Amino acid sequence: MTSRTSPTGAPTDSGRARWGIEGAVLADGSPVDVLVEGGRVAAVGPGACRVPDLPDRAVLDAAGGLLLPAFVDTHVHLDKAGIRPGLDTGRRYPGSANPGDLAWAIAATHEAKRAYTVESVAARAAEVVEQHVQHGTTRIRSHVDVDTIGGLTPLLGVQAAARACVDVADVVTIAFPQEGVARDPGAADLMVAAMEHGADVVGGMPHWEDGEDARRAHVAFCFDLAQRFDADVDMHVDETDDGDVRTLATVVEETERRGWQGRVTVGHVCALAAADHAYADDVVAGCARAGITVASNPVTNLVLQGRGDRGLVRRGTTRIRELLAAGVPVAFGQDCVDDAFYPFGRGSMLEVALVSAHAAHLTTPDELRTALAAVTDVPAAAWRLGQEYGVAPGARADLQLYAAPTWPQVLRLQDAPLRVWRAGALVATNEVRRTLRP
Ligand SMILES: [Zn+2]
Repeated sequence: MTSRTSPTGAPTDSGRARWGIEGAVLADGSPVDVLVEGGRVAAVGPGACRVPDLPDRAVLDAAGGLLLPAFVDTHVHLDKAGIRPGLDTGRRYPGSANPGDLAWAIAATHEAKRAYTVESVAARAAEVVEQHVQHGTTRIRSHVDVDTIGGLTPLLGVQAAARACVDVADVVTIAFPQEGVARDPGAADLMVAAMEHGADVVGGMPHWEDGEDARRAHVAFCFDLAQRFDADVDMHVDETDDGDVRTLATVVEETERRGWQGRVTVGHVCALAAADHAYADDVVAGCARAGITVASNPVTNLVLQGRGDRGLVRRGTTRIRELLAAGVPVAFGQDCVDDAFYPFGRGSMLEVALVSAHAAHLTTPDELRTALAAVTDVPAAAWRLGQEYGVAPGARADLQLYAAPTWPQVLRLQDAPLRVWRAGALVATNEVRRTLRP
């Protein structure tokens, strides 16, 4: 890549600085120049950088590379990230079908969680935030366990990481009752305390409760809390292979009853894949009607679910294509990084999009565009960022530039972005350097 002067001459300052990108290509294939001013996109289109008093050294030549808005990861568990090396991964736990399933992973996390300190959580979380930034993500929404094992330590740790990384990423938190509310006496009070301590979003895990009544009460509790704190809702919903678990229908009901349309995200929703088609059609239509976003996490669920199946093994993901066809926004999340639930992950939403495309059979040009939207526009809309997001005048200049010219090529090649900006400031660079037969 070359620039009108040198790529390293690109300004790294935000706020006051005015700078530009010339010769980039947008995801729709159109060539584009972008002017950034005061940390925001000031102008977009051919000739946008031809303004008086803009020196050559303040304009980066993108050399035909793809320019995207920075990714948004709307579903990750930063408090747990990185604990796997300390776990006894060979041990069996009561209630789990086999090592590696969801019940096993939750139980396997208990010991680590008891030993958490704010500092240890913050250090692990910050490392994963930085991995995300290196791979083009500048906005992250993290669930944090809120329960009687770890108390508020996971929340305080992730909040500390958010402060430590405030120059490179926005990290917001979801209070997540991982051990249940009825099943974990004391968790309800802790959920209130978590919101009072600045958790941004109300989480939930209704299917983890024992019996239908407790599940309904769990959903009602979460919505009560959301109304009390005027917060959005982002719950783990039906993360099980059992197609008869149907708390999603209860979430749809409550969303409409409380007038929370457009403020609710449901994560995982694996059970929907195994449910009967009549229920699925009905509840998918309900999600569309209630403006619910689905955060699917195929990278984790592909290995976490379906572990008890023989032969035809369930894929662990929800009905992504049916949801998309019904107009339900579908986001993809990293979910887990090197924890009891998932031994992989590196904060790369490009990798998340690629694995998710495999899981959901997304291969046509239109479908590949939905895979891009699932890590950009859809989570941004779920956050209600509005005009703050995108490569458009007025948006905060959270951008990323790739060497390859098109989204399908970027997705296929999996090279990290050459540059990542947050609010107009350069926050990460990557170099692609390969030698063959040197
Ligand atoms: Zn999750």
